[in-house]
This record gives sequence, structure tokens and C-alpha cells, in this order.
Amino acid sequence: MRTQKARIVIVGAGSGGISVASRLLRENKQLEHQILIIDPQKKHYYQPLWTLVGGGAAQKEQTERDQSSVIPEGANWLAERVSSFTPDKNELITEEGTKVTYEYLVVAAGIQLNWSKVPGLKESIGTDGVCSNYEYQYVDSTWENIKNFKGGNAIFTMPNTPVKCGGAPQKIMYLAEQYFRKSGVRDQTKVIFATASPSIFSVEKYRKTLEGIIQEREIETKFQRHLTSIDSKNKNAVFTNLETGKEEVLSYDMIHVTPPMGPPEFLEKSPLAAENGWIAADQYTLQHPVYGNVFSLGDCANLPTSKTGAAIRKQAPVVAENILYAMNNEPLAAKYDGYSSCPIVTGYGSLILAEFDYDNYPVETFPFDQSKERLSMYLMKKHMLPALYWNGMLKGLM
Ligand SMILES: Cc1cc2nc3c(=O)[nH]c(=O)nc-3n(C[C@H](O)[C@H](O)[C@H](O)COP(=O)(O)OP(=O)(O)OC[C@H]3O[C@@H](n4cnc5c(N)ncnc54)[C@H](O)[C@@H]3O)c2cc1C
Repeated sequence: MRTQKARIVIVGAGSGGISVASRLLRENKQLEHQILIIDPQKKHYYQPLWTLVGGGAAQKEQTERDQSSVIPEGANWLAERVSSFTPDKNELITEEGTKVTYEYLVVAAGIQLNWSKVPGLKESIGTDGVCSNYEYQYVDSTWENIKNFKGGNAIFTMPNTPVKCGGAPQKIMYLAEQYFRKSGVRDQTKVIFATASPSIFSVEKYRKTLEGIIQEREIETKFQRHLTSIDSKNKNAVFTNLETGKEEVLSYDMIHVTPPMGPPEFLEKSPLAAENGWIAADQYTLQHPVYGNVFSLGDCANLPTSKTGAAIRKQAPVVAENILYAMNNEPLAAKYDGYSSCPIVTGYGSLILAEFDYDNYPVETFPFDQSKERLSMYLMKKHMLPALYWNGMLKGLM
């Protein structure tokens, strides 16, 4: 077995892993070449833009860069897949057979999309009316369906599991609905939002605006509905009503599916996982409750907040600072307040910027009411946020 060691090992080179590595290097030059990032993926994706790609308002190539181009200078990269952890020995093993030892470990391996948990979905996704913005390889199928839609039932789903960006399943629906008006098929179209959630959004302030939009634009909502199977041959989607337990079959002409998601399997079965399978972490310091040299952030962390890149923007500095405190044997003074944000695109040129904390209390950045639809916020999402991501967040500057 090959062996490697590093002072700090980061599992996952996504939004969380790269942000923490850059922060650490920026704050402590002595860490140069003492940080090892492990991730088998050769490409890095800016996933928030997939909503606009699916709506035909951005190119998917804009969202993809070589992983090597975002690994910060001074960090090393091992392009292998971690398979197991032995935190008692400060060790992990990769599928390729490398044993890696560390002083500090950061786990940022994201969320797992469980397409096969919905019978019929894996076989049909990306084909014949079944589409999703949730994976790079399928995002084009969303725009193909919207662009070529000739009327009928257009269904948008949201599962009964945690998902990344809880607003994304409905954002694409607002774009599609507006496009159907433009293409002249809205009159012969039923737009249906079938969601396992009990309401359109969890934060009251933004929920009120969204309820108004849904009513005004004649979108049909079906709450507490979880997609349980797809019969693509007959274009039927089967939902379970979570209140009554009864099945309901809806026919579709297009269906945008947000798949069930969960903790990545290799994390779920590891000694670092909390009972629910996500990586255990103190909700303020982001430190593991049992293994003090382990930290976690992003979609895989067991934190009671929305899983978004915006949340990671606030978590990454906390993880980096607390590792530096721990190295100096000082108390972990950096605290994460649960901040998360969801730029809810409501049309081509309008957006509600939801920002909230652990208590679902709005914590807004701008000196105006962010629950109102605005063109300026849409332009920010489309042009400013991607630039801030690549040039600011991933470089440890914000
Ligand atoms: C359609 C869509 C719209 C979204 N919209 C928004 C938005 O508007 N605003 C917002 O803030 N967020 C949005 N998000 C969510 C945001 O993209 C994620 O929350 C964020 O990317 C999560 O970062 P992460 O570092 O936790 O995981 P990721 O960025 O997904 O990275 C995880 C990394 O871990 C690696 N990994 C996995 N398994 C292993 C292993 N065994 N060994 C080593 N490495 C491994 C993966 O290869 C990957 O590179 C959206 C997401 C989607 C899909």
C-alpha cells in the first residue's frame, strides 16, 4: 500500500474544500505544501448557474473548469477516491489503495444524488420528457424540453429528503412557465409543482411573495407529494401523498425531477457520521464532537441549515480559523450562525434574494426589501455571483 501524509487533509475539492484550502494558505504561509486535497473529479463545477442553463439563459460550459485550475497554489492534490476513515489512527484509505495520515482532517465531500431510489428514473432521466438541472450531464435536457414544449402537463418535483439548494426545484419552474407564455403554449399547459414539503418555502417572509406569484401565474401546487416511480413508456409519474399514504398518478409531457439525495455512502458508514449519516459537526464551530481534529462543512455536514454554496461562503472561514486556533491550542473562537441564502429566480429578469439564519430569521445584505422581485438581483445572480465565486470565494478572499 502506498502511503502519504499531510498536516491538513481535505476530502472533496468542491466549493467547501477549495474555499477552506485557500483560506488556510492565505492566513498562514507556513502551511504551503502541508495541505493535501483528495478528490478524483478532474472538473470543478459552479452548480448554482445550472438553473439558468436549464432555462436556456446561460451556457453549461461556463460552469465547468479544470480542477487543476482551482486547486490553490501551495496545496497538493491527490486525484483519488476516499473509501474509508480510521479517525482513531488519523488515517484514511482511498479506493486506489493509498493510505493517508493527517493531523487535521476536513470533510467536504458534498451530497449524493440517489437517482435509483425512484424506480424508472435512472433509465429515463435525460430522455423523452424527463429532465433535471441537478447533474451537469442532464442539464441540457431541461432546456431541450422547455424549448420544444408543445403543451400538456409540465411537472416539477421536490423529494422528501434534504437537497442542495432547496429553492432550485421551483426556480426552473418559474423560468419554464414564463417561457411557455413567450412560446405561445401557456394556454394549453398545466404547470404543476409536486413537492414533499408542506409549503412553498420555509421562511415566512419569502413564502408570502412566492405564494402570490404562484397564484398570479396560475401554477398548481401539490404539497406533501413525493415522487415514487416513473413509467416513462406511458409518461406517468407516481407520487405518494405523505399525508394519506395514498398513491396518485399524474401524466406528464415533461417532468423536471429533483432526485432524492443523501449523505455519500462512504461517509454514511464511517465512524465520523452522526446517526442520520451526515458528518457530525458542532453547529457553531463545525468541529467533530468526538474527534477534535476533524472538521466538516458544506452539503455533507450535519448542520440544521439549507445546503447551499452561500452557506459555505460563511462556513469556510470558520473552519479555517478554528483549525488555526486548534493548532495553537487556543479555544475555537470562530462561530457559524447558520447563514444560508437562496437566490430564487422567478423569471428571466426577476429574483427574490432569500437570506436567513438557523432560526429561519431573514438576515438580509441589502438596504431594501429582498422579498420583492428585482431585475438587479437577477443580474447579480447571472453575472456577479459566478465571478465572485471563481475569483473571490475559491481564492479564499470572501
Ligand atoms: C441546480 C442547482 C442549483 C443550485 N443553486 C444554488 C444557488 O443558487 N445558490 C447557492 O448558494 N447554492 C446553490 N446550489 C448548491 C451548491 O452548488 C452546493 O451547495 C455546493 O456546491 C456544495 O458544495 P460542497 O463543497 O459541499 O460539495 P460539492 O461542491 O458538490 O463538492 C463535493 C466534492 O467532493 C468530491 N467527492 C465526493 N466523494 C468523494 C470521495 N469519496 N473522495 C474524495 N472526494 C469525493 C466530489 O468529487 C466533489 O468534487 C445549487 C446546486 C444545484 C445542483
